[in-house]
Amino acid sequence: MENEKNNPDKRKYDMLQQDAVASFFKNRKTQFLFQLTAVFLLVLVVLAGFFGIQNSNMSLTTISIWVIWWSLLLISLALVGRLWCFMCPFGAIGDWAQRQTFYKKIDGTFSLKMKFPARFRNLFLAALLFLIITWADFQFNLVNSPLLTAYFIVALLGFVVIISIIFERRSFCRYVCPITGLIGLYSMFAPIELRAKDKETCKACTEKYCISGNEKGYPCPVFEYPGTMEKNTHCILCTECVKTCDRCNISFNIRSFAGDFLNLTKTRVDEALFILMLLGVTIFQTLIMIRPWAGFSRDLMIYTGASYDSVRFILFIAAAAFPVLFYSIVIAISKFFNQKIIFKDLFTSYAYSIIPLGLMMHLSHNIRHLLEEGAGIIPVLSDPFGFGWNLFGTSGYMPAPLLASNNILLIQWLLMLIGLGFSISIGKNISRRIFHENDSSYLHVLVFVLIFFVFNLWILGQPIMHKH
Ligand code: SF4
Ligand code: SF4
Repeated sequence: MENEKNNPDKRKYDMLQQDAVASFFKNRKTQFLFQLTAVFLLVLVVLAGFFGIQNSNMSLTTISIWVIWWSLLLISLALVGRLWCFMCPFGAIGDWAQRQTFYKKIDGTFSLKMKFPARFRNLFLAALLFLIITWADFQFNLVNSPLLTAYFIVALLGFVVIISIIFERRSFCRYVCPITGLIGLYSMFAPIELRAKDKETCKACTEKYCISGNEKGYPCPVFEYPGTMEKNTHCILCTECVKTCDRCNISFNIRSFAGDFLNLTKTRVDEALFILMLLGVTIFQTLIMIRPWAGFSRDLMIYTGASYDSVRFILFIAAAAFPVLFYSIVIAISKFFNQKIIFKDLFTSYAYSIIPLGLMMHLSHNIRHLLEEGAGIIPVLSDPFGFGWNLFGTSGYMPAPLLASNNILLIQWLLMLIGLGFSISIGKNISRRIFHENDSSYLHVLVFVLIFFVFNLWILGQPIMHKH
């Protein structure tokens, strides 16, 4: 009951109330088994990239990573938040290198345990890497190259291990992972959360094993403190605090969608900028796949005399920067009409209201890839290296779209409407809660949201070129 008193969202169900679920997460081998499976699959994918067939339509590497995993990751963020991080093979290999054990709790670590530089304890490095990798994808056609994808995975793994050996805990996951910002911010929408049951118990707790660790588990790898945690953004759901908290004060709740936005007080400029940049990159990724893009970029090349790569690079940077600039203007107008409100407060607070729309835009883009190209995995599973095997008798299967194009478009529109509905509702909630019913401060952000909504609907309606 104490939990409910502190918690305005009373429609929560703590899964750890079930003894079986609690034991499942308290057992140190549980996460290891999931991680081991993920590492095994990743090794297969990398081997297929290096030694298997190089046709991206028939490659386990490209189909499983760029069509299946990436699409399922986005869906999972909306439904189960950062649960992917629980089994992420990159984080697992970093942990194993650093801890020199697969699942046991040991005291020493094979790491210099340096503190991550204070100036980079934000999302800026992650944003930079995200932009570089997205650009590299356009430039080197990563998604269509099994070999380059395999090299990319191995390079990223090496990077994770080096960071894990130099810096303490999971500094990589918290500050460097190129998708940590995307995963963290989208996961705020998910109907699950891991939180302290009762914040007063945490205040009174002198041991704070969730921070220091004990014989049952490690200190929080991403430097979170459940006693003040109010959003899903950084918690990688490793469940170490479930193991270490000797007051059983951790809950793993099922809650309403977008629950993080109900009482959000800790907003950050780096997160707000990431949300806006992501919006622009998502639109750009869809734009370059529609047929009118080819004509537009050709006209631009003729007009400017620049090469295709230069035109695309400039438009990519412009796309990432445009929502930031446009939103800044919108907030400046809002500030002009609401002199008492601080620009930074308006800028950061309302940026979070854009997350559901951004997530659904991203999802609607990838759902088409998944439904149109995902069946390509069926023959590949029987012949993962393209050696002519027929392991499950499906290598002769001719992949076809799972749904007709018009039906996919309907799903995309539905997703967009869901995103718009949540974004408006959160924006109004922020206006009520933080700016005290000052609806005029939200009006301008609403116009911003509607413009992006309509523009994305138009893009989705255009004929699209496939990823593979
Ligand atoms: S150990 Fe448990 S009760 Fe103590 S501060 Fe951490 S989460 Fe709260
Ligand atoms: S808060 Fe708990 S579950 Fe979340 S990352 Fe930290 S230790 Fe893991």
